[in-house]
Amino acid sequence: GTGRDADDAKDLLGRNDAGRRGFMLILSSPSGAGKTTLTRMLLQTKELDLTLSISVTTRPRRSSEVDGIHYTFITRKQFEALRDGGELLEWAEVHGNCYGTPREPVEKVLAQGRDVLFDIDYQGTQQVKQKTAEDVVTIFILPPSMKELRARLERRAEDPPEVIAKRLENARNEIRRWTQYDYVLVNRDLQTTFSDLFAILTAERRRAVRLKAGIGAFVEELLRES
Ligand code: 5GP
Repeated sequence: GTGRDADDAKDLLGRNDAGRRGFMLILSSPSGAGKTTLTRMLLQTKELDLTLSISVTTRPRRSSEVDGIHYTFITRKQFEALRDGGELLEWAEVHGNCYGTPREPVEKVLAQGRDVLFDIDYQGTQQVKQKTAEDVVTIFILPPSMKELRARLERRAEDPPEVIAKRLENARNEIRRWTQYDYVLVNRDLQTTFSDLFAILTAERRRAVRLKAGIGAFVEELLRES
């Protein structure tokens, strides 16, 4: 009934966002700019209620990765079957491996009015934006300097020098694409960048286009008051 709708709508103006349409939050950055840590911080913030989209990939699993958590690791043949069956929202080849986003889990979460977080590259970002620009929010995270980026890559001590050189070259190419994103953050310190991310999410959740029926009922109630 309208009472229930109005309650839902009132929640919209506060902290509870039930009744709106979910959106896709794409967080991109060159590797070493702090995206992994920021993604973890976002997912650990329960009140944000973000769901991470788990990609499929043909890349071999790294020893630190868990199948079904970081990626779902599949063969090229399996990948091609998903792609050709229209089961991927987007896909791209990166460094000779295929990566893609399974469509169904994303659509389920969006339909519940909840937001989905993606860690995908610029090619995938373009594809998702072309399909449903209104439901996509893109954020690019820059390192404070190339010197700092290099230091962060070296501190990880995971990669040999030639791989670090390759990642820095890739970073330059990704940084040149900064204008295609909705928001650009310079990650000078994690706490500030995180609170900027939180503010962006809070604002995006209140955009009228996403509020649909929930806010409509609330507005009707408002106008009925004398
Ligand atoms: P990595 O192999 O280091 O995990 O990821 C390599 C690159 O592939 C990163 O830039 C990452 O954002 C991107 N990537 C991961 N999953 C997907 C996906 O499903 N689609 C696209 N387009 N890129 C992805």
